Amino acid sequence: MYHLPVLKNRRTLLERAEKFISNVYFTDCNLRGRLYGDSCPLESIAVFQTSKRIPFSEAVQQHFQPYKVGDAFGPTWWTCWFKIVLKMPEAWKGKEVHMRWESDGEGMVWRDQQPVQGLTKEGEKNSYVLSECLKESEAHSITLYVELACNGLFGAGQGSMIAAPDPNRKYTVQKADVVVFNRDVQELLTDFELLVDIVKTLGEEEQRGYQALYTVNEMVNLCDPANPSSFSSARNLAQKFFSQKNGQSQHVVHAMGHCHIDSAWLWPYEETIRKCARSWISAIRLMEKNPEFIFTCSQAQQFQWVKSWYPGLFSQIQHFVKKGQFVPVGGTWVEMDGNLPSGESMIRQFLEGQNFFKEEFGQYCTEFWLPDTFGYSAQLPQIMRGCGISRFLTQKLSWNLVNTFPHNTFFWEGIDGSQVLTHFPPGNSYGMTCKVEDLINTVKNNKDKGRANHSAVLFGFGDGGGGPTQLMLDRLQRVRDSDGLPRVFMSSPDRLFSELQHESSLLCTWSGELFLELHNGTYTTQAKIKLENRLCEVLLHDIEVASCLALCQAAGFSYPAKELQELWRLLLLNQFHDVIPGTCIEMVVEDALEYYKEIQKTGSGLLLSACNALRSSSFLGVGSNTAVFNTLAWERTEVIALTGNGAKKKLALVKAPCMGVAPVTESAEPVSKVTVTVQADGSVEMENGLLRAVLDKMGRLVSLLLVQTNREAISDGCFGNEFVLFDDVPLYWDAWDVMDYHLQTRKPVANVTQFVEVISSGGLRGSVAFSLRISEKSSIMQEVILDANCPYIKFKTEVDWAEAHKFLKVEFPVQVRNPNATYEIQFGHLQRPTHRNTSWDWARFEVWGHKWADLSEHGFGVALLNDCKYGYSIHQNVMTLSLLRSPKAPDANADMGHHQFTYAVMPHTGSYQEASVIQQAYNLNFPLHLIPDVRIIHPWSAFNLSSSAVILKTVKHAEGRKNALVVHLYESHGSSVNVVLSTPLPVQEAWHCDLLERPDHSHPVALNGGDITLSFKPFQIISLLLKLH
Ligand SMILES: [Zn+2]
Repeated sequence: MYHLPVLKNRRTLLERAEKFISNVYFTDCNLRGRLYGDSCPLESIAVFQTSKRIPFSEAVQQHFQPYKVGDAFGPTWWTCWFKIVLKMPEAWKGKEVHMRWESDGEGMVWRDQQPVQGLTKEGEKNSYVLSECLKESEAHSITLYVELACNGLFGAGQGSMIAAPDPNRKYTVQKADVVVFNRDVQELLTDFELLVDIVKTLGEEEQRGYQALYTVNEMVNLCDPANPSSFSSARNLAQKFFSQKNGQSQHVVHAMGHCHIDSAWLWPYEETIRKCARSWISAIRLMEKNPEFIFTCSQAQQFQWVKSWYPGLFSQIQHFVKKGQFVPVGGTWVEMDGNLPSGESMIRQFLEGQNFFKEEFGQYCTEFWLPDTFGYSAQLPQIMRGCGISRFLTQKLSWNLVNTFPHNTFFWEGIDGSQVLTHFPPGNSYGMTCKVEDLINTVKNNKDKGRANHSAVLFGFGDGGGGPTQLMLDRLQRVRDSDGLPRVFMSSPDRLFSELQHESSLLCTWSGELFLELHNGTYTTQAKIKLENRLCEVLLHDIEVASCLALCQAAGFSYPAKELQELWRLLLLNQFHDVIPGTCIEMVVEDALEYYKEIQKTGSGLLLSACNALRSSSFLGVGSNTAVFNTLAWERTEVIALTGNGAKKKLALVKAPCMGVAPVTESAEPVSKVTVTVQADGSVEMENGLLRAVLDKMGRLVSLLLVQTNREAISDGCFGNEFVLFDDVPLYWDAWDVMDYHLQTRKPVANVTQFVEVISSGGLRGSVAFSLRISEKSSIMQEVILDANCPYIKFKTEVDWAEAHKFLKVEFPVQVRNPNATYEIQFGHLQRPTHRNTSWDWARFEVWGHKWADLSEHGFGVALLNDCKYGYSIHQNVMTLSLLRSPKAPDANADMGHHQFTYAVMPHTGSYQEASVIQQAYNLNFPLHLIPDVRIIHPWSAFNLSSSAVILKTVKHAEGRKNALVVHLYESHGSSVNVVLSTPLPVQEAWHCDLLERPDHSHPVALNGGDITLSFKPFQIISLLLKLH
């Protein structure tokens, strides 16, 4: 039945078929032009606009004005509610009838007081199905509401996607009518489109591509768009092609519906709630029609939002979770940044997330799901393992600018040796559309060919929501097993990983961090968010310690579990992978800072009431003394400021016991007083018996001597504490990226506006201050502080910052040589090279670390500590801390204004472990607290540890249990060690438990009169459940 043989002209045949389905060309006579049949206008359409996001019940009570299609509304971030009355003509009996809706913005259709479907042009959802087959018996007159958000799937960037939003954008509805939808045309179009794509994707090398070419050409011959009875012969031809099967060895694709929704990014948090509803209700409509359709969905916070705002939708979700179609994944509260949150924050991401999933859906997640963040900490495998998760999915490393990551399926090993089975979908996307290209790329890009024969394809519009469409499902359905394409079936994360596990014997192992060679500016951008994150992590830690002590020691104290959970959830939310990295719009920054304020305000109150409660305890009591409270688990002797009777601040050297309280005795004398000497050339020498520092009159550190060994830390002829400014113009992703070439634009900040002058003249504290001008608009003021008994020198810094595309850093060239430097990460540390031998080395020209980084050689080293910074680089012998950036997109005002931060330099003998660098960095971040008006008798300590290698990081109340504490400890040196944890608290029983606090009944802990002996492996985290009397 084939027509006359044609010439061997691939191009004309291919383009002929393309034109036959084009929505631009020849729609007067091609197949695409027949997609819709008769249409009729809406009976009426009326509008009500509001600047607020209000519930449906409130919206429908408003006064609606008549609206004409084409009229403008808005501006950006407003919401337009449309009331639509429509009628399906009797004559359309038996036809599929849609309401066609083409508009800007993101819409939600409401019918009978319920949300029923999302409408977004960018997400290819332009119509709402009124009837699949119009019957006489059904209601022909229908009233609908469309809630239209005045923002696109990707916000409202002015000029480009990531530019700051245009607040004055106007929106319109371009088309709104009732129309007959020709399903048979749609089906045939899908056949055509797939065949055309096979021709194009397989290219001229593959015979299968030519088979598709001649098939599709013959289909054009057979098909008369004006005559639907001709469609079936064309469809049969397509069907015959698609049903030619693969051999047994073909790669297997696990297709999973997905909809990546950034919890806030180019739109505010509040809009995300509606994005979830629009996307998820649409996914549920697809589940109803396609019982095999599976949709994976992460982020407990988003479920929680939908539960509160759309309870009807939430119960539908619960129904489809039970059916196995709506699959919650990930196990975390939000898809957090993978670098910056503290170890404890990461545990809480899982604790809050997993508990939510368990409570609402009856199951814990078994896969960690983080397709879209900017690198992954080497401590994550252990944290995942501790939280019931042994599998991990991401794809972001495909964005590497320099090196291609060598695996798609592999074991990822953390710093402690924990492993998780990891899969990067080789299609390198979490928003595929099930086109031929996605399937072919999945096979072609797979770097584990012959080792792993299964891969994931995550399909559905994402980032701003949207999700899968019926068209994507129709594509998949046709090519389940079609020769030349991978076999593909609808699958779930569990099924994929089970297959991968099954065939894992040949898989490689990647040890250490998954570093993203891109977006390295995110360690620094939006400094205030990073500062607040650090402060709030410290505050919540301190509240938990204080509240646990109060619970054990003060009668009648009730642990503020509910309040703490709310504060933690706010903190965790702001750790979302576009918020803490600073890659969001200004509106999100404002919301985030508001949440931090709330944590600070409520948190300070909770800390105060715990401390007040301690006053009623037997070991404090009410009196007229002041006590010092140390929330860290080692003894500290530090200079602190006392504020007495409104008079000027008074300093005292206080000794605070390990996680406990002690009286403040103002008479404590330092072993060695601090001296401050101004020299003839204007430079100043400060010494505290441990360190001797010399600052030149510009505030630069010309010498830093370790007194005991007479060892100089600063390189000869170089300056420490030198501020340097770089041009910082990335290629595209402004807030995200700092490029390698910025290093060539280094300029020291050398314009002194106030030379060094003495502020504190010695005794307990020596300090000097100076000021620099960065530019006409920006300046630095710094106080350099040396305290008695303190092994580091502090740089308390204030910057007024009004730059554009500049990057401020501070440098310390030190007399140390080592090919590797050490950086603190979550519950441990790792090494990165200080040289640029290979592309993998130099791609890490800007890296992240937490509270400290260290460069040591045998017997001596220098640590650089900070109280809120994350960006570091240590190249050769120069240690650099990144301070402030000034990108202009997506927040045009990012980082403008006043900043305060402190960093410190600590030269040391021996290793950083022996020198207690780790503890000193904690000390800098966790100030001692004063408790006034107490009658203290003796210093009292809640916990003690026999080895400094182990850090007791967290003491908290056990979730959902009465009278039980949970403690998290970790080995911080990278050593195997036995340690005794001692406590006078009334502990009755102790159990090992996982990080979800589930006791391991096979692993009790021997409790010997308050002593617990524990064995640690390098960087191991141990969690204990302590039952109290
Ligand atoms: Zn994202």
